[in-house]
Amino acid sequence: MKAENATPQVILKDVRKSYGQLEVLKGISMSVNRSEIVSIIGPSGSGKSTILRCINALAPVNAGSINVAGIEVNDPKLDERALRRRVGMVFQSYNLFPHRTVLQNIMMAPLQVLKQNRADVEQRARALLAKVRLSEKENAYPGELSGGQQQRVAIARSLCMNPEVMMFDEVTAALDPETVKEVLTTIRDVAAEGMTCILVTHEMRFAREISDTVYFTDQGRIVESNNPKDFFENPQDDRTKAFLDKVL
Ligand code: ADP
Ligand code: MG
Repeated sequence: MKAENATPQVILKDVRKSYGQLEVLKGISMSVNRSEIVSIIGPSGSGKSTILRCINALAPVNAGSINVAGIEVNDPKLDERALRRRVGMVFQSYNLFPHRTVLQNIMMAPLQVLKQNRADVEQRARALLAKVRLSEKENAYPGELSGGQQQRVAIARSLCMNPEVMMFDEVTAALDPETVKEVLTTIRDVAAEGMTCILVTHEMRFAREISDTVYFTDQGRIVESNNPKDFFENPQDDRTKAFLDKVL
């Protein structure tokens, strides 16, 4: 939820990104406050995933600036590990390690990357498993879980790094319809605890319900942004209207 005395936690200023000759981000500016829930929606290929990848320094930008929790992302001396500790990211493909149990998957990065104490990590991992409502599956292997359950483990794994910002890129797009809801419920729980969230989603009803701000992207630009009620009920730009006509 939007805080009263909002402090920006993620700031993008006129971000440009090209792949070869193709400019895929043509000046993206956005500001996400602490505990704010932002949804990015727009047609396929409009640059949504690229925005998230730039925020996480998975894709270097060509111009403009990105600041995440005080870290300048395009500083040549950027400590990528420090950045990625603060920014959790969950994708459509959950990429759990198949030969490790659920609990081991969640504990792996804090143990190996952060070198944290095993007992502490285990306690946190169990608490997170309870949060995503999978305590009974801690000794299961990923292959024994449904897609929705695996995605919830992936979210718990990301949360176990204690991020300050969570980014979700179409995390329900590959799931069976009957398991989409449980993953959306997990995201709702994470958001309700005050986590700053940036989500790319095709779930329009969910975006409307959960977001403080909705951004609409088209061809590498933010065409409009608004609170969800006005965005969905009274879109301003013809491109937004055309998109919403197709998907709603
Ligand atoms: P969205 O997530 O909105 O579907 P993307 O951010 O994935 O869009 O892609 C935006 C554009 O950038 C597309 O035209 C896509 O083909 C292109 N693109 C994305 N990643 C790469 C890459 N690694 N190399 C070349 N082109 C890319
Ligand atoms: Mg994408």
